Order: sequence, then C-alpha cells, then structure tokens
Amino acid sequence: MGRSVLVTGGNRGIGLAVARALTDAGHAVTVTHRSGEPPAGLAGVHCEVTDTDSVDAAFRAVEERQGPVEVLVANAGITRDQLLMRMSDDEYEAVVATNLGGVFRCVRRAATSMIRKRYGRIVLVGSVVGLYGAPGQANYASTKAALVGLARSVSREVGARGITVNVVAPGFVETDMTAALAPERREQYLAAIPAHRFADPAEVAAAVSFLASDQAGYITGAVLPVDGGLGMGH
Ligand code: NDP
Repeated sequence: MGRSVLVTGGNRGIGLAVARALTDAGHAVTVTHRSGEPPAGLAGVHCEVTDTDSVDAAFRAVEERQGPVEVLVANAGITRDQLLMRMSDDEYEAVVATNLGGVFRCVRRAATSMIRKRYGRIVLVGSVVGLYGAPGQANYASTKAALVGLARSVSREVGARGITVNVVAPGFVETDMTAALAPERREQYLAAIPAHRFADPAEVAAAVSFLASDQAGYITGAVLPVDGGLGMGH
C-alpha cells in the first residue's frame, strides 16, 4: 500500500537514495531541501530543520499534496569535526541543533497526525559512531547516540498506536560527507571495516525501506547497523 512519506535532507546522499527506493516501492514521497531545486522526478519542499516554523510549514505542504505523513525518515544531518580541545561552541551547537534538535522537531510534528491515524513509521538516521565513538566527533557522536534515546522513549510513548520508531546506524557511506575525509583517515577506516569498503547509499536505503514498510510493524526501538561490521558489539 502506498504511504505518504517525508524524507528530510532528501536532495542528495543517503536521503536521496532513500527517497528513490521508497518511490520505487510505490509510495508518495516528498524530500526536504534547503537550497536549489529538488532532485529530478521527486517532489520537494523547502525546510530548515532547526526552525520549528519551517518544519511545520513543510509538513503542511506535504499534507496538502499527499496527505498526512505516515512515514518519516529523519535523515538531515551535518558534521563539524574538530578535536575536543579545539571544538568551538558554534561547532558543537550547530551539530546538536541540526542532528538532534532537527530530528526532535520533525518527530514531534509527525507524531501528531500518526497518533490520530494510529499508524506510523519513523526511521531516524543515526550512525555507527553514536555507540562506537570517533576522534574529532564528540559533537556528532553525541547527537547520534542521543537519537537512540529519542527513538526508544518515543517508541514507548506511541507504540500502542501502531507507530514504530527505529534507528538505522550506517557506517561509512560514499556521500559528500565522507568525500571530505583525508585519504589517510579513509585508509584507516577501511582497514577497520570487515567488509573493507564504504557503503553505497542504496544499501542504507534498503534497510530504511524495510523499517518503513507495513511488514516491519513489530520492530520498534531497534538500532539496525548498516556498517559492514565496523560497529560489531556496540
Ligand atoms: P550529505 O552531507 O550528503 O547530505 C546531508 C543532507 O542533510 C542534505 O540534504 C542537507 O541539505 C541536509 N541538511 C543538513 N542540515 C540541514 C538543516 N539544518 N535543515 C535541513 N536540511 C539539512 O549527508 P549524507 O547523505 O552523508 O548523510 C545523511 C545522514 O546520514 C546524516 O544524518 C548523517 O549524519 C548520516 N550518516 C552519514 C554517513 C556517511 O558516511 N555519509 C554515515 C553515518 C550516518 P543541503 O543539501 O541543503 O545542505
């Protein structure tokens, strides 16, 4: 059955791959974008996830176009890597505002209509580093760990209403975010990943699509790694 889907940060990278996979699965999909045009063949809505009014306006636009959001993929996220002793307040706060505050705002807004409808699939895009840790990512890893607490708390609040809330925790994925890695860092990570490669965004999208499906109705509060084995045991 086709559902009304919103993917935040769906104009590129993992979000775009998720949007394409969910479109192929027969759903009505809108992606959020901040600048420029939405990707070819996809409906887009402008949204700045750090701004409550912008999030609300985006959801209202989706509701008018394709009905209340039944599947939310909270994917928008940023990095501002820096070693702890050099990390500025701005680098810390920008990452928390987007990766945690942005997800919180979208989940809260989505839950309103999902509760009424007694159906919902919420998938948060976390990261292996949330539970594994990474030097230079104290800000980023903290927000990704926090998404697990957010997902599990909301799962407990809305589980009886047919709503599931899960986290997909990718390892390293070939996107603009990892293109910025220094070559020697990339080699270090490759050596630590059992699969010995970075993921294709479509491989993350496949896991998100499963958790977003009607069939995944008895899975909630879970963290699904898509990390080539990097985080095993964490
Ligand atoms: P990209 O940098 O390629 O894309 C990030 C997306 O988030 C863009 O669409 C961007 O919009 C959007 N975005 C960022 N900040 C905001 C904001 N304040 N409001 C609205 N939209 C925003 O990232 P990836 O595709 O690599 O990452 C997607 C998610 O996956 C992130 O949450 C990331 O943390 C997570 N992840 C990525 C991994 C990787 O290896 N790539 C590994 C593990 C997790 P715009 O184009 O306008 O900037």
